[in-house]
Amino acid sequence: MPAIREFTFECKSLMTKSGIASLDYAVNPYLGCTHGCVYCYATFMARFKNIKDEWGSFVGVKENAPEVIAKEIPRRKPGDVCFGTVCDAYQPVEERYRTTRACLEAFVGTEGFEVGILTKSDLVVRDADVLERIESPDVGFSITCLDAGLAHVVEPGAPSPARRLAAMRELSARGIPVWGFFGPVLPTLSDSEEAIEEVLREMDRAGASHVLVDRMNLYPKVWARFRRALEQRYPERVDAVRAIKSDPDGYERELSDRVGRVAASVGVEVDVCF
Ligand code: SF4
Repeated sequence: MPAIREFTFECKSLMTKSGIASLDYAVNPYLGCTHGCVYCYATFMARFKNIKDEWGSFVGVKENAPEVIAKEIPRRKPGDVCFGTVCDAYQPVEERYRTTRACLEAFVGTEGFEVGILTKSDLVVRDADVLERIESPDVGFSITCLDAGLAHVVEPGAPSPARRLAAMRELSARGIPVWGFFGPVLPTLSDSEEAIEEVLREMDRAGASHVLVDRMNLYPKVWARFRRALEQRYPERVDAVRAIKSDPDGYERELSDRVGRVAASVGVEVDVCF
């Protein structure tokens, strides 16, 4: 892992209109994400903010986020909110700053907002007491494989999949709705029937109401970072992934069929989002 550069700054707004159709508002208490996933689609945020550091090596803390969101909530039409669309709201820095926790607290006592979190971190369990006081919370756990070594290669700054599953079980046991995000399925690494079954089964056992499954979009920036990780740790896979990249439609069809078959045998509700 590279050394992390941390800084604070003030934001003008926090509850932004989401570009995701099923979502009304995105809330990102941090700029950047030190989970540093090699397939991350949010790296454009660095460019957007003119930050030259490598993705995963910096995090900006929106230090006035709790005050900003507390003012925004009463002015916004109720709707679906998601914490963590271009960062993980529970990345390690949250342990000290508690910015996400303070933003969540602003939703306590409000009506009509569905407050969701998508995370790779078990730190979210710390805030179960706040989630229990929100009208309509849910927590999605993102897992791309169960193998801790592989997860460390592709998500070097994130807690292990086992810790995420334990957190999922804990929140579920406390009555907080949880769901799974199996995405992106890692081409040649977690896309076999066996690997898919393992992930779906464990998410089901951990209490997931349903699982969203997504494939990896190997557009040039993602491919460059993913290929570098493959070359270092799984060089024998590079050609196979290159072949997948050259026929994305064929791969998607095959993967979608495979996921459908496995989901039916495991008996878990799955939405394939590709
Ligand atoms: S946790 Fe999400 S936002 Fe953070 S680096 Fe990974 S994919 Fe990107």
